[in-house]
Amino acid sequence: MVHRMDVLISGAGIAGPTLAYWLAHNGFRPTVVERAQGLRSSGSPVDVRGPAVTVADRMGLISQLQDAGTATQVLTFRNAHDREVGRVNMGALRRAAGSREVEIPRGDLATILYEAASDDAEFLFDDTITSLTQEGDGVEVTFDRAAPRRFDLVVGADGLHSTTRRLAFGPESSFVRHMGVYIATVSLGGAAESDTEMLMFNTPGSAVAIHPSRGAALAAFMFRAGEIPSFDYRDVAQHRRLLEERFAGAGWRLPALLARVREADDLYFDAVSQVRLPAWSAGRVTLLGDAAACVSLFGDGSSLAMAGAFTLASALASTADVETALRRYEAEHRKVTGPKQRNVSQCAALLIPATRAGLATRNAATRLWPLAAAAQWTGRKLSATPKANASTSAHA
Ligand SMILES: Cc1cc2nc3c(=O)[nH]c(=O)nc-3n(C[C@H](O)[C@H](O)[C@H](O)COP(=O)(O)OP(=O)(O)OC[C@H]3O[C@@H](n4cnc5c(N)ncnc54)[C@H](O)[C@@H]3O)c2cc1C
Repeated sequence: MVHRMDVLISGAGIAGPTLAYWLAHNGFRPTVVERAQGLRSSGSPVDVRGPAVTVADRMGLISQLQDAGTATQVLTFRNAHDREVGRVNMGALRRAAGSREVEIPRGDLATILYEAASDDAEFLFDDTITSLTQEGDGVEVTFDRAAPRRFDLVVGADGLHSTTRRLAFGPESSFVRHMGVYIATVSLGGAAESDTEMLMFNTPGSAVAIHPSRGAALAAFMFRAGEIPSFDYRDVAQHRRLLEERFAGAGWRLPALLARVREADDLYFDAVSQVRLPAWSAGRVTLLGDAAACVSLFGDGSSLAMAGAFTLASALASTADVETALRRYEAEHRKVTGPKQRNVSQCAALLIPATRAGLATRNAATRLWPLAAAAQWTGRKLSATPKANASTSAHA
């Protein structure tokens, strides 16, 4: 009798539902466990570009993504008096890179991917893996709420602070590198003045941006800092305090934005980090997306998550030998994530110059840059495309 492989995916963000879709497409039986009670729409805008466009196209999702995309065309740099001191024409950059690239709120992207996968995959919301025990050719899994089950393969697509990674590979501190920047975002509770213009105000070593998103504007706060002792990405009171300390008195629109930080219930705050592991698989447990190789928010994480999911599903479909498939996936996808991880300091230099001289140079450069140089400097070009072919025969 043919055994269709049962695959457990932890995390219904970007990578998880994309993988569930392609696994089901290739004859596997995917189950996705997601800690949140449901999916939230909107959120920080992310880009679907390069190889992710190809993946979305093969899923028949391009027009849906374009309909849900933001209308942002320009990023203008402002001084304390709100006067424009530099600008990047993001619309032109996007068009130069390929007309089908789209910027979309992260939650909307996750929802579209979930809807594409939900008919053919089982989703368990409001739950989490609590233990993984490898036994023979499978993994015994216990959950917080669901009954224990056995799977042929477990995929950790549960993000930067992956539980799967902790259980199968060890503590987060061994793999997560602080990149010297912290970021916070908060929704502004309404639309921005313009839905095509993103604003940014800098002081040396910090940046505050207002993004119109899709009618639900949000503010982002970024600042350079070494590791903050006792920092906890779940401690909202600590986050509010840190933002006050760093931004109170900075001028521009900060008084109103900090008032919003004090009252909003969706403040997000974390260290900008990269994940680096010597190997992405341990027996029948493997990692995907940010859990495996977070490139930080400056590096196309969403696009890489979608591309990696496609590559993993293709590798699993190409051979009945799981170990070989996992080796192929890692060898292929590392070619894409490695260069992206090396780009981060350039993007930080553009968005958060550390000195007054650096700021002046950046602002002047944005007025003079030829388009190609701008594209290169922001690390916007993704040259790789998914090579594996997910339409290969179903795994038996
Ligand atoms: C503020 C910010 C701005 C960003 N901007 C950009 C950008 O402009 N462009 C870009 O390409 N990328 C951007 N990124 C990065 C991008 O969001 C991530 O790289 C991408 O979402 C990674 O996808 P993922 O599926 O691996 O992880 P995630 O999208 O983080 O999804 C992980 C999922 O796992 C769930 N989960 C966590 N723990 C558990 C558990 N124990 N059990 C079950 N489920 C769990 C989470 O709830 C979540 O749904 C940004 C990130 C942030 C934070």
